[in-house]
Amino acid sequence: MDQFFEFFRRLTDTSDWPPRWLCGTWTDFHGWLYIVSDLTIWLAYMAIPLILIRFLLKKTGVPLTGVFWLFGAFILLCGLTHLIDALMFWWPAYRISALVRFMTGLVSIATVIALIRYFNEALGLRTSDEYSRELTLRQQAMQELARSNEELQQFAYVASHDLQSPLKTITNYLTLLEAKHGSHLDTDARKLISVSTAAADRMRSLINDLLAFSRVGNTVEFTPVDLNQVVADVIEEHQADIQATHATIRVEGTLPTLTAHQTDIHQLFQNLVSNALKYRRPATDPKVLIRVSDRGDRYHFMVSDNGIGIDLQYHDRIFQIFQRLHGRNEYSGTGIGLATVKKVIDIYGGRIWVESTPGTGSTFHFTLPKIIKTLQHYAQTDSLHSVG
Ligand code: ADP
Repeated sequence: MDQFFEFFRRLTDTSDWPPRWLCGTWTDFHGWLYIVSDLTIWLAYMAIPLILIRFLLKKTGVPLTGVFWLFGAFILLCGLTHLIDALMFWWPAYRISALVRFMTGLVSIATVIALIRYFNEALGLRTSDEYSRELTLRQQAMQELARSNEELQQFAYVASHDLQSPLKTITNYLTLLEAKHGSHLDTDARKLISVSTAAADRMRSLINDLLAFSRVGNTVEFTPVDLNQVVADVIEEHQADIQATHATIRVEGTLPTLTAHQTDIHQLFQNLVSNALKYRRPATDPKVLIRVSDRGDRYHFMVSDNGIGIDLQYHDRIFQIFQRLHGRNEYSGTGIGLATVKKVIDIYGGRIWVESTPGTGSTFHFTLPKIIKTLQHYAQTDSLHSVG
């Protein structure tokens, strides 16, 4: 133990040994060959970690960075042993030399362990050729998907548009009938007109919702969308409902800004908030809370309400188009809202799910990547390498 403390106390003390020049017999050529070689090795060993560090700082997402750092430290320490070896011709710092060698030994062992541990993982890493091949295949599949998606959107759009005009005629004639002949008709006939008008209104809502659904993901023109502003707009749109039901809508913290399509994001929040207000419990003031948490490459959003809740068996079904859990007389709606929300999130590369206790409330969870890229973006990308 004494030797141990003595060693560190006299770490820089070189008085116990002569400089290496005086140790044995060196010719100038032999000594300088040794020194110059050691210094050359040291310089090269210094350069390798610097290049590695520059590479790691410039290239994000490099796999197995831990091994890179360890390898860098290992090379740096090896270099240091060579520098000290060269310096010992004038400066016999044998204690420092021993300490540096000991540390080099430790780091070398750690590097070997890391290399063995991550060997299989490194074997699984794809080469850039393999990556390019996979990207080409993926891009072809995506182009195919985007094309069929576009066809479907066009079909829904045209069908919805073509339905609008006969519907307008029906509504106009019903209004005309009511205005012109309403006073001559009996109660039964007037009731028939009002039922028909209500049915036409419902159909208009259905067509509008279908149109909105078909438009989701229709554009690659993305702009920065401040989600705080989106929520403020949605609250403004529901002001009458909020006041009538004494509802409160609270946003916890600040929401992020995402580069996306404004209308898609608006649809998303508008449907979730309007459902949270609509599916309220009788005699309970609706309380809606919007939260977000940062999950590294994505955001996790939560929209909670204190409404009627949803039975576990319907947690998947509610996201399918036209699936409603209630009759029209109980709650108005078309069964397209959550399907639209899910479509936005699917297209943007996120996930949606619900947690709910019937009679207590529901929380709709969804994630969105911080950098949103849709199929259309991929399909429109000509160069593989710009698909980031
Ligand atoms: P709808 O037009 O019927 O509101 P949605 O697609 O928005 O259609 O919702 C599908 C079904 O999911 C609704 O009919 C309702 O039963 C249920 N639902 C949606 N949001 C909520 C909520 N916040 N609380 C309770 N039930 C909900």
